[in-house]
Formats: sequence, C-alpha cells, structure tokens
Amino acid sequence: MPEGYRRGFHTYVVVLGTVMSGLGKGIFASSMAKLLKDKGLSVAPIKMEGYLNIDSGTLNPFRHGEVFVLDDGTECDMDLGTYERMLDQNLSAKNFVTSGQIFRDILDRERHGGYLGRDVQMIPHVTGEVKRRLRELAMQGDGKRPADVVFVEVGGTVGDYENGFYIEALRQLAFEEGPDSVCFVALTYIIEPPALGEQKSKAAQLGVKRVMEAGIQPHIIACRATSPITDSVAQKIAMFTNVPMRRVFSMHDRKSIYTIPEAMRQAGLDREILSILNLHDRVDLGHEDRARERWMDYVRRLESPKPKHIKIGVTGKYSTLRDAYASIEKAVEHCSTHLACETELVWIDATELTDDNASAHLSGLDAVIVPGGFGSRGVEGKISCVRHCREKQTPYLGICLGFQAAVVEFARNVMGLREANSTEFDPESHDPVICELPDQREIEQLGGSMRLGGQDVALTPGTLMWDLFGRKDTVRQRFRHRYEVNPSYVERFEAAGLIFSGKHPKYPIMQALELPKPGAEDVEPGKPTHPFFVAGQFHPELLGRPLRPQPMFMGLLEAALTRKYGQASGAQAIAKA
Ligand code: GLN
Repeated sequence: MPEGYRRGFHTYVVVLGTVMSGLGKGIFASSMAKLLKDKGLSVAPIKMEGYLNIDSGTLNPFRHGEVFVLDDGTECDMDLGTYERMLDQNLSAKNFVTSGQIFRDILDRERHGGYLGRDVQMIPHVTGEVKRRLRELAMQGDGKRPADVVFVEVGGTVGDYENGFYIEALRQLAFEEGPDSVCFVALTYIIEPPALGEQKSKAAQLGVKRVMEAGIQPHIIACRATSPITDSVAQKIAMFTNVPMRRVFSMHDRKSIYTIPEAMRQAGLDREILSILNLHDRVDLGHEDRARERWMDYVRRLESPKPKHIKIGVTGKYSTLRDAYASIEKAVEHCSTHLACETELVWIDATELTDDNASAHLSGLDAVIVPGGFGSRGVEGKISCVRHCREKQTPYLGICLGFQAAVVEFARNVMGLREANSTEFDPESHDPVICELPDQREIEQLGGSMRLGGQDVALTPGTLMWDLFGRKDTVRQRFRHRYEVNPSYVERFEAAGLIFSGKHPKYPIMQALELPKPGAEDVEPGKPTHPFFVAGQFHPELLGRPLRPQPMFMGLLEAALTRKYGQASGAQAIAKA
C-alpha cells in the first residue's frame, strides 16, 4: 500500500466486459462517473489495457481508432477522450495503464535488485503492481481532491489471456479493501438474432459466469442490446447471476451517449451504486441539481428538432474508418447541438483528390476539415483540397497536418514557390517551408522526436483566432507533431498576406494561421481574403467538450451556416447558444 493511503476512504467501481469487446465499457463507466461527479464526489477513471505496447503512440489508427493525447503528453486509447468529454476533467498518465508499462516497471525493478533475491511472480508481484497503481490513482484523485470513487475499466473481455492478471488483482483489491469498497459491474450483451425476432440471454449468462469463475460476484449487470431489454430477459439475467432486478440495467442503443447518465439516474442506478459503496453521506444535493440542470439543457438541445442542415467534408486518409477521427466527430456534434443544426460529415479520401477533380468532390460542401496525419500518402490530395477551399472561399479548418498543408499550398500557389513542401514528404525540397527543427526541441526539453501534449499558444490580438477564443491572449492546446513552419520563411509568408495568429509565447514557432476576412482593415489590394480560413498546428478537437464546444469548430460551423443560409442565421444561432 502506498504511504498515506487511507483504506476505507476510497472506493472503486470496476467495469468488466463479457461476451465481446467494443460494447461500451468506457461509456458505461464515464456515464456513471459523471453522475457521481455531479453529486459532488471526486472521481478518477482508469483504463487498463491488456496489450504490451507502452502507450498508444505506435498504434495504427486504422486498427485501433485515433490516438488520444492528454495534457501531459500521454498518448492513449480513445476511450480516455470519452472520459474527458463526459467528465469535463483533464486526465494524465496515471489514468492509463498497459500491460507493457506494468511489466516494464517490474523488470526495471528486478534489474535494480528491488526484489531482494526473491523470484518475481505474476502473483504477488504483477498483481501487486496493479493494486499499487490503483491506490496511487485513488490518492491523486481528480488532481484537486483524493478520489471518492475510482472507475476501473479493464480492456477486452473476461477470459482473455491478456487481462487475467488485472482481474485477479481486482479480486484481491476487493478482498483487501473490505466490504462496501468495490462495486463490480459486468457489462454483457443480449443478442437479438433477426431470424428469431426475440432477445436471447444465454450468451450473456455464460459471459457473466466467467466473471464468477474468476471469484468475482458482480453487483450490477449492464446489458448492451439494440433495443431495450425485456422484463423476461432481465429476470433471467437476475436469476442466473444472483443480481437483483433493480441492479440489471438496459444499456440499449441510443442516438447519443450523452443521454445515458440521465437514463441511469432514472433507472435508479446511481442510488444503487451509492448504497453498494456506502457513499450516501458524501452526496451534495445542491451541486447535483445545478450540474444536472446544465447537462439536461444540453440533452434537450440534442433532442430538439434541427431545421438547418449542413455538410462538412473531412479529407483524411482513414476515411473508411470513422474511429480514426472520433474526436473530430465529437467536436462537430457538440457544436451542432449548440448551433441547432444537423451536420452531415462527408468522409473524403485524400488519396483520390487532385487539383483537377477537387471541385467535383468538394463543391457541394458547406465547409471542409483537413485533419492530422503522418506519412506522405494522401498529402498532395490534402494540398489540392486546401487550394479548392482557399480559392472557392469554402470555410476551412486545418488541423496539424491540415495546418502544414495550408502553409505548403499558400507557398506554392500564392507565393509561387512551386517546389515548396514539408521535409517529411520531400527531404530535398528546394523550399522546405515545413521542416524539423532539432534546436527548438532542445529548447523545449521534450526528448523523443515528437512535440507532445499541452502547450501555451499566444494569440495575436485583433485576429479571428483571438476573437474565436473570446479575446484571450493565451490559450492552452494539445500537440502531437514533429514538423513545424520553417522560421526563415515566416516574414515572406506574412508579407504575402498569411497571418500567423497563434505563436509560441517565447520562440518563433508558428501555431495557428488564418486569412483576413474580406473587407478587413489593413489588407492590401490583391492580397487573399477568405470568410473563414483557420488552421492550428495543434489538435483543437481533443478539447471539445459538450458544455464547452471548441471555438474553432464553432467558428467553422457558423461560417458554414452563414454560407448556406445567409449572414443572420449563423450569428443568430451563436446568440441562441
Ligand atoms: N506529420 C506531421 C508532423 O509530424 C503532422 C502530424 C499530425 O498531423 N498530427 O508534424
């Protein structure tokens, strides 16, 4: 036990998956954590991954969905994004653990003689390391207060070879912490084969049985299903799992995950958890009422009719797999809800775009996003996409590589530097307007080769970016990139009319750009203007939260609405929000 750990103070909710993975353990855990946070409790989620990678930095978004980046630079699973959005709480390395991290720490300790001649074993050493990390997280809590409740999500399903030691560690934790300290939730799946036309519970029963075989009696069963589970299914599940009916929750498909916390509350699940963990005394009812009112206002907007409809293109290279751009989709969803519009995302394969066919692919769109990316595939298509948006005055938001593509496009087609490129794609480029800058990395002492995590961005007063962010002079954004605007070209870019509206507070690192609006002061005749052309070297989508929609996305959607429905509509929508 870590020094200073108060046994009996911290409690744990453990969410285990059965039947199959991908059922939404993170959604269950984050929704429940939100309900308890709204009651004034301090909550801390943790995702425990079975794989041996140290983090998600090297995982292919094709296979695993987007790599989410935390403020401290941790590259993690996209589920951490769900927690941050649902809880409106910044997480850190302590909220994400992989088998690789656990084994690395144990092997390091072994090499340094830390086990004093003992043999090192799965039990107690590996399980001990898991418990130690959970308790340390409990002490750290939400960063302000120690955790009343730690939410533990174990990746994969019970019975997987990879996560067995986590589950054993959690069983031990429950025993050591004593009664009322750990609440186990088994998330399971109710099948509804179309040929039968009715719900079948056997797979779910067998799944939960595996949890019991591991020595764990679940307290709550959450049933994923396409439609609400029937009473007879709930009864069967209750009967075969020893869990009372009131603790069997139907987690059927819904239009938005943001309606789940209220559905849980109406089913009384929050009170059940408080009873299981004996936490009723810690609840602040006033806090709950206020938080719930704000959240329900958002849910009402979500569910109200949206008469306006816009189409936004996302020009990426993983366009067949939406999980690769999950945070972008979420950031757009939050803004659509606040602006009362329906936004259709149109996934465009960058590898197919050229200067010649860009119009055919893009002309029906009200706005375009070019997201981040690594490697040269699709880059020329992204540059053609930027050119179309700049010339045809289509609202544009560039993210990371989408920022760099905008810089290259501007250099080539406005400044006439035909060979301009990023050294990532053409190391021999005659005009390397985007390049790697080793000196700056030394300055920032980041080690590795990637600039990762939260950094301050100084916004230039009077610019569109500055306006979008409520005229703040400095904002904090999350980065994940290697290449930057080459400082020796900055003056030439500015002379040609490109505005770098966000910069590193101290060094010549360009972090955001824009074009002036038509009719803006100080624009020399003949210089490019645009109704909404904005890009960031950072990832704004990672900071979109339902109740605090991301300003650059808000600006993009408003510009799209204005383009489609005229001046008043966008501004009115903003005012309404
Ligand atoms: N590949 C670019 C770089 O490393 C952009 C990275 C990104 O879009 N996340 O700088």
